Amino acid sequence: MAEIESLIHLAEQFGRLPGIGRKSAMRMAYALLDLDEEDAAEFADAILDAKRKIHLCPICQNLTDRELCSVCDDEDRDRSIICVVEDARAVMSVEKVREYRGLYHVLHGVISPVNGITPDKLKLKELLVRLDESVKEVIIATNPTVEGEATAMYISRLIKPLGIKVTRLAYGVPVGADLEYADEVTLFRALEGRRDF
Ligand code: ZN
Repeated sequence: MAEIESLIHLAEQFGRLPGIGRKSAMRMAYALLDLDEEDAAEFADAILDAKRKIHLCPICQNLTDRELCSVCDDEDRDRSIICVVEDARAVMSVEKVREYRGLYHVLHGVISPVNGITPDKLKLKELLVRLDESVKEVIIATNPTVEGEATAMYISRLIKPLGIKVTRLAYGVPVGADLEYADEVTLFRALEGRRDF
């Protein structure tokens, strides 16, 4: 079969996404071809719309399409606690538990010298400026991986001298696992059982 250049090009775009191999990318490209023109336009518009509107919340660095994210903007949230997470997906995971009523801070990564991710590449400065006297506790909820633990340790050393209580999630989550894949009960227990760092 002759290669259809525009189909290959489309599949290549899907192939840019994490976890999408050649075969899956090709399957998605064919599926997209099956859409009628209106639906295809909606698909394309959704990509551009999200890219144009979504930016980082200036306070917690989570993704938002509003001026402030819905958590920072919610006056009922407990402003004395900040839960520090690796990425925006982790915020969604903790929010699903519905137990946590504090604020968040999204680091956008973990310290990983082998991958060239040094502390200055994370949103740490943005965290430090938030730590005034109104903040009583910082919960470090990075994933229980080697990098996640090292990052937690690093942040703890930064914050502790400020006299703020620093806690770490008590993981029932297997080491090496990702917060995203923890079930809600496990995450709830981890939040409940958080310990002093
Ligand atoms: Zn925010």
